[in-house]
Amino acid sequence: MPLLKVENVSYSYDKKTKALKNVSFSAEKGEHIAVIGHNGSGKSTLAKLLNGLILPESGTVSVDGIFSSDKEKRFEIRKKVGVVFQNPDNGIIASIVEDDIAFGPENLGVPRKEIGERIDFALKSVGMEEYRSASPARLSGGQKQRVAIAGVLALKPEILVLDESTAMLDPQGRKEILSVVEKLKREQGVTVITITHYMEEAAEADRIFVLSHGEIVMSGSPEEIFRDGEKLKSFGLELPYPAYIAQKLKEKGVPIDGAVLSESELAEKLVALCR
Ligand code: ADP
Ligand code: MG
Repeated sequence: MPLLKVENVSYSYDKKTKALKNVSFSAEKGEHIAVIGHNGSGKSTLAKLLNGLILPESGTVSVDGIFSSDKEKRFEIRKKVGVVFQNPDNGIIASIVEDDIAFGPENLGVPRKEIGERIDFALKSVGMEEYRSASPARLSGGQKQRVAIAGVLALKPEILVLDESTAMLDPQGRKEILSVVEKLKREQGVTVITITHYMEEAAEADRIFVLSHGEIVMSGSPEEIFRDGEKLKSFGLELPYPAYIAQKLKEKGVPIDGAVLSESELAEKLVALCR
């Protein structure tokens, strides 16, 4: 049975627009899914539905067989699904970093001693161990975002949803967070759902969903999704930059074959051509 099941989910904030229409998908333990789509396509709405912050208007969301609509088990869903949103300021509540991170596990009834360990683990994971006693208010945007991510990691969720949570970081910071996420997936079987507008980030996932106007309009492996630049364009999206370069080179007659998704793949193909 898949860990996460989203079945025929629709949601609207008001009568005018449907933010999500009949969305269905499932995710296995340890799977990495990327969700991409233009602004307003429904990505954040999906993130909020996954941990029961909002409930489907029709259809169901279930995690490990627990439905988000089951009021008595809402706590269970929150434990299993950790969501990091775009703006870190919304998530920070305490005046010291470690208290902020402790807040979630304390609410879930984690024993004191274990909370200390979880804070260590979470801060180390995001490279912020030196800021344990710092005031979140004095941190940069990128550092705040790392604290927000650490706060969710301290909950040890089975499903980690990152809603454009690396957007405020510089490329190096983004890489570091992604490698943490990759490690959680590999070593602890965490299911990862990254919502991103960085196509190269999406290319790292096992599967990609493209949302447009509240509907899943494409789904497949990164190779499948990034095969058709024109189709992506029709949904307001671009190819990952290395794939774009490869496509342009092909148009100019350079014989590059197969999928090119990352800089290293592009470099390999170009080096091979020079032999
Ligand atoms: P994305 O994250 O892909 O940019 P959202 O899920 O935030 O998309 O938004 C999907 C649709 O729902 C958009 O049309 C947006 O304007 C609308 N929407 C989002 N949040 C609200 C809200 N709190 N109230 C009313 N409409 C909203
Ligand atoms: Mg959004």
